[in-house]
Amino acid sequence: KPWWRSVADEPKPVDLHPEIPHSARMYDYFLGGKDNFPADRAAADQAVAATPTIAVAARQNRAFMRRAVRHLASDLGIRQFLDVGTGIPTSPNLHEVAQGIAPECRVVYADNDPIVLAHARALLASTPQGRTAYLDADVRDPDGILAAPVLRDTLDLSQPVALSLIALFHFIPDSEDPHGIIGRLVGAMPSGSYLVLSHGTGDFEPALRDAAASYRKQGVSAQLRTLAEVTALFGGTELLDPGIVPAHLWRPDGDGAVDGELPGQQAGIYAGIARIL
Ligand code: SAH
Repeated sequence: KPWWRSVADEPKPVDLHPEIPHSARMYDYFLGGKDNFPADRAAADQAVAATPTIAVAARQNRAFMRRAVRHLASDLGIRQFLDVGTGIPTSPNLHEVAQGIAPECRVVYADNDPIVLAHARALLASTPQGRTAYLDADVRDPDGILAAPVLRDTLDLSQPVALSLIALFHFIPDSEDPHGIIGRLVGAMPSGSYLVLSHGTGDFEPALRDAAASYRKQGVSAQLRTLAEVTALFGGTELLDPGIVPAHLWRPDGDGAVDGELPGQQAGIYAGIARIL
């Protein structure tokens, strides 16, 4: 029996409801991915027409993920990643970036969406030296994630881990206790680990608040947060330079640069990396 939870071995029929727009597939479309249907594209085009920032924010966020992982693997020597809120695979995925630098990197992906599960095979193509695993799990149950055998089999929690919560917590409203959830996950990571987090904001582009409202109308709980609120989510950790900044300003290196795509750089997403003490 393989060490990872094999999606191929346990086929689950998933009704993808292609006729209903889905936020993960809309995000995939914003990124230029192929795993979306006409209804997703129509809804996404409508959202972009109302709020162009939303598609730019998606691309800036994804580019931040790549830069963050390169920094963690190249400069900080991180070899283990726990990526919660993985999303529909869009190449390069986190493990491809990390293993491109150090083939022995181990990555556990976790998401609660059946659509992501249906695509999870693309997330399990590890280098032979490394490992990847997929966990069908909800971040609102951090203890369940931390206790999952697949996590324990893949990651050594006595060694530093990068906990990546990228573009996830704007789906966790205050009523779900985001601080408690992050505190539990961060608390389980050994000292020398890192927290990587990005988060939608209406600080620069008030129209994004309408986009959040339209997501809520589709039944997706969405809560944009201010700089102070996002900073609070990093509570107890030590931010690396340049702190929490619009995602495209976090150590820009030309990858994913979208300067000039929008007038006035109307950022829609904050990003930061912090050291777990
Ligand atoms: N991290 C990726 C994808 C972000 S999209 C990136 O930045 O490119 C947000 C993802 O979070 C979606 O795939 C969605 O299914 C997932 N998600 C939303 N709520 C979740 C929850 N409660 N538990 C786990 N995953 C969740």
